[in-house]
Amino acid sequence: MDMSAILDSLNDAQRTAVTLPPGAALVLAGAGSGKTRVLVHRIAWLVSQEGLSPWSIMAVTFTNKAAAEMRERIESLLDMPAANMWTGTFHSLSHRLLRMHWQEAGLPEHFLIIDSDDQLRLIKRIISSLSLDENQWPPRQVQGFINKKKDEGVRPEHDVACNPTMHRIYTAYEQQCRQQGLVDFAELLLRANELLRDNAPLRARYRQRFRYLLVDEFQDTNAVQYAWLMNLMGTEGHLMAVGDDDQSIYGWRGAKVENIHRFSSDFRDVTTVRLEQNYRSTGVILRAANALIANNTGRLGKSLWTAGAEGSPICLYAGFNEVDEAQFIAETVQRRCRQGVPFRHFAVLYRSNAQSRVLEEAMLRAGIPYRIYGGQRFFDRAEIRNAMAWLRLASNANDDTALERIINVPPRGLGEKTVQGIRDIARGAGLSMWQAIHKMLADNIPGPRVARILAAFVAQIESLVVSPDLSLGDLAELCIQSSGLRDFYRKEPGEKSRTRLENLDELVSACRDFESAGSGAAADGSNASALGTFLTHAALEAGEAASGPEVDSVQMMTLHSAKGLEFPVVFMAGMEDGLFPHRMAMDSPEGLSEERRLCYVGITRACQQLYMTYAENRRLHGRDVRMRPSRFLKEVPRDLLEETRL
Ligand code: ATP
Ligand code: MG
Repeated sequence: MDMSAILDSLNDAQRTAVTLPPGAALVLAGAGSGKTRVLVHRIAWLVSQEGLSPWSIMAVTFTNKAAAEMRERIESLLDMPAANMWTGTFHSLSHRLLRMHWQEAGLPEHFLIIDSDDQLRLIKRIISSLSLDENQWPPRQVQGFINKKKDEGVRPEHDVACNPTMHRIYTAYEQQCRQQGLVDFAELLLRANELLRDNAPLRARYRQRFRYLLVDEFQDTNAVQYAWLMNLMGTEGHLMAVGDDDQSIYGWRGAKVENIHRFSSDFRDVTTVRLEQNYRSTGVILRAANALIANNTGRLGKSLWTAGAEGSPICLYAGFNEVDEAQFIAETVQRRCRQGVPFRHFAVLYRSNAQSRVLEEAMLRAGIPYRIYGGQRFFDRAEIRNAMAWLRLASNANDDTALERIINVPPRGLGEKTVQGIRDIARGAGLSMWQAIHKMLADNIPGPRVARILAAFVAQIESLVVSPDLSLGDLAELCIQSSGLRDFYRKEPGEKSRTRLENLDELVSACRDFESAGSGAAADGSNASALGTFLTHAALEAGEAASGPEVDSVQMMTLHSAKGLEFPVVFMAGMEDGLFPHRMAMDSPEGLSEERRLCYVGITRACQQLYMTYAENRRLHGRDVRMRPSRFLKEVPRDLLEETRL
């Protein structure tokens, strides 16, 4: 293998990092300096020059999409498949471990992943089953509490000092999850970490196998993730961590920048490599980013420079209101497209998801194709969630969360009283709701009408047998058909009906694609069924890109989901105090610093041209509010900004 392919496209500092001898290494550098590139080339180097098997390398990325891209780039550098390399997010890698070692991890074989929506529902049910008041114990707050505890690695039994009611809810929640074989996102990490921590032989096996571990976006690891890495590697392992303290934007989710310092003290002889040349952005964009982030204190400090062009000034647009702002963006996209820039070169970034609706409308009106990355995604749509619930029941009828979701969807005439009756029996006898229905019927509890409905419901679910002769696509079709979902949506009035039916069809195609891509096969020796793998895939992917063909379209996403990405032209919309920096973060210095880092992330996504826009008036929560330009705009040197009009 020719090593010039790997090294030629790197600068000296990058080359040093890529060719480091075994050991612990930290690549600490600003945005766009080639950190991710170093990671990819390092893996190619290890395989081609150090003779490592891809099998003994694990790479942790920030999104599943990044993992897929990484694999592709490695494959093209090496000109060989890297399918058996473990790349993925902390979540997907944890999931893989748990599927392979479900027994050791104390999980049922077909445990199910629940997303945050399902989790919230479950928490609501628990709050009501404990006869607590939702106003006093807001489910979202409880959810935040539970996830935070899990991110800190704290189980209910460890946390006796917390509020007794919270403690009761957390305990009941854990018990429900155990009973139903449910695993939430935070649990994936925590459980995998406990598995590695408590099972010495297993840990030894993996330490021997994964000799090299590489982590991108290291600044955003939280306590459990850090512990997870330590358990997997030991401090003797060859770990390369890559990150930028200025891009730490998940403090609110427990990420700890201090992990960067900790890493240097936990490992002996950490080699630190700094990259200072930026290859992504113009001089103007880079200077704006540097000036902004200089307002934060306690930074590790970096200087970034570019050999590239100075570029044109940042365009600043003041909209009369949010509609005007959105229209400016749409018209600018149109104008530049006429000059030959493809749609996919534009990204529209915003602070909160709610901003997307008005922006989307402007795109629609202008006939501009767009794609929401990480927003209301395919797997989040109601009809898809309903169909997925049927699929989940086909996999495991004891899945209460799924059963609750569709017990009356499509409506079958079961009243809330009956459903509550089922819940009561389930809770009283320690059964799943599915089992409770059987018990009810066996004990002749309901009247003839309800009994008939329930028996039909049972028959419907039992008809969804998972058999080897039935492909995943056929099973999905069967679920949609025999559940009555298709008929139900067909009868819905108007445009909605059509899109919903299209979405259901799309789900069947997604299943078929999934199967033909071989993703359903038990690739890693785990014995998860194709269905189980698909359900997990759906739950894990839901947080990321929408499915569907890669059409040329404008990319729209929140600033948080833009991390690690780059686009020739970037719009940052809603540059207003209260919106960005976010109202909730404005009062604390730490909150404000994190918002500023988020702004730094946003600015540094742009390669050639950056637009920053704000609205002078904005409709917020149904009221028209006068807005003030974001303080971050004032932190960008005047000479880099140019006010523009439509
Ligand atoms: P971020 O902090 O945003 O994650 P990063 O440090 O990971 O950024 P990369 O995404 O790896 O940076 O690289 C930024 C851009 O610069 C990419 O388009 C990459 O291909 C390019 N690049 C990096 N190093 C070089 C190089 N030595 N020569 C040419 N282009 C480079
Ligand atoms: Mg990167």
